[in-house]
Amino acid sequence: MRTMNSTAVLCALVNQGPTSRCSLSSKLNLDGTTITHLVRGLLKKKLIETSGFSTTTGRPRELLKLNVDAREAIGLLLDPNHIVGKVVNLGGEVKFIESVQISDNDSKDTVLSKMRMICERLLQKTYKSRLLGMGLAYHGIVNKNDILEQSAGLSVLEGINIRHFFENLYNLPFALQDTSRCLAIAEHWFGAAKGIEDFVLIQLDYGIGCTLVVDGKPLCGISNSAGEIGHTVVVPEGKVCRCGMRGCLETVASLSSIQRSFVEKYPELGAVTHEHIAELVSKGHTGAVETITEAGKYVGIALSHLISVLNPGHLIFCGRLFSMGPVLKDAIKSSLKSHTVFSSYNSLRIIDGQLEPDSAAIGAAMLILEKTFSNLA
Ligand SMILES: [Zn+2]
Repeated sequence: MRTMNSTAVLCALVNQGPTSRCSLSSKLNLDGTTITHLVRGLLKKKLIETSGFSTTTGRPRELLKLNVDAREAIGLLLDPNHIVGKVVNLGGEVKFIESVQISDNDSKDTVLSKMRMICERLLQKTYKSRLLGMGLAYHGIVNKNDILEQSAGLSVLEGINIRHFFENLYNLPFALQDTSRCLAIAEHWFGAAKGIEDFVLIQLDYGIGCTLVVDGKPLCGISNSAGEIGHTVVVPEGKVCRCGMRGCLETVASLSSIQRSFVEKYPELGAVTHEHIAELVSKGHTGAVETITEAGKYVGIALSHLISVLNPGHLIFCGRLFSMGPVLKDAIKSSLKSHTVFSSYNSLRIIDGQLEPDSAAIGAAMLILEKTFSNLA
């Protein structure tokens, strides 16, 4: 119980910034003696520090704040396009960042050596006494034995035991979670989902991810594949998906599939980037607007099943496809409204994510830092 309460104090300081003991007591519904006891323990461990006095009316009260630089973790994002590594402190601030591109032709050994290069560069920049470990946001499905089973775009790594790879190399605590769950963790701590304990995050990017957060924790499922909304069928007998099924959401609404359909429909445009498509949409290009509107319709259909069944309070939009602006968002909302049980749609708040797409690396670091909050406090 004491550990849980200490964690709650740290979370409150992350969310609220400098706070008095009195405010902590009222926010956490804990009596003054308990708060004094918890604060004393956290001050002793240097996880928090004093920060002057409140200037509001009444008796000045000493403020407490998180000692953000007391601990650090390395967060890594491994996706088909690049590897991003970040050194992140307890406050979610990125102290150092390194990245490298991955090419379609890279072999397994090349990708792994790039990963080692990023880790080693970051390790040289951190203080060993502060570093608690490494977290990884991966793209695909990792089974319960930590073996990468499926990863479109990174199939060269399939079959690798990712945990063994990192633990053998660095002898540091290691944690891993898929990209969309890491993004949800980052949004929960530092972005749009601060203070929201139950929400659905949809990530529309080159692939499609979805995370269900319940009581502040992402749902993983019995085979660690919860949230695979990208592989729910929205077009029966549609195009073959990389997963082997036909008509999955990813075949009609991922950035990769939209780029492919542009190449088919408008070969004169050549290979288009998502920035280029967004520009066409903003200029009212009929074909571009139709393609994005249709993608939004299918995203709405897929999400409607989830929203009708789970009745979550919040839905968070993340990912590069949202650079298409209101055309996409309006199409999703309109489709969602038409296909969702009225009471579920009516009680749903739809909000934009606040963090950059590669913030999954921050969420990966939080996998380690969250343990600190639980174990050291
Ligand atoms: Zn599929």
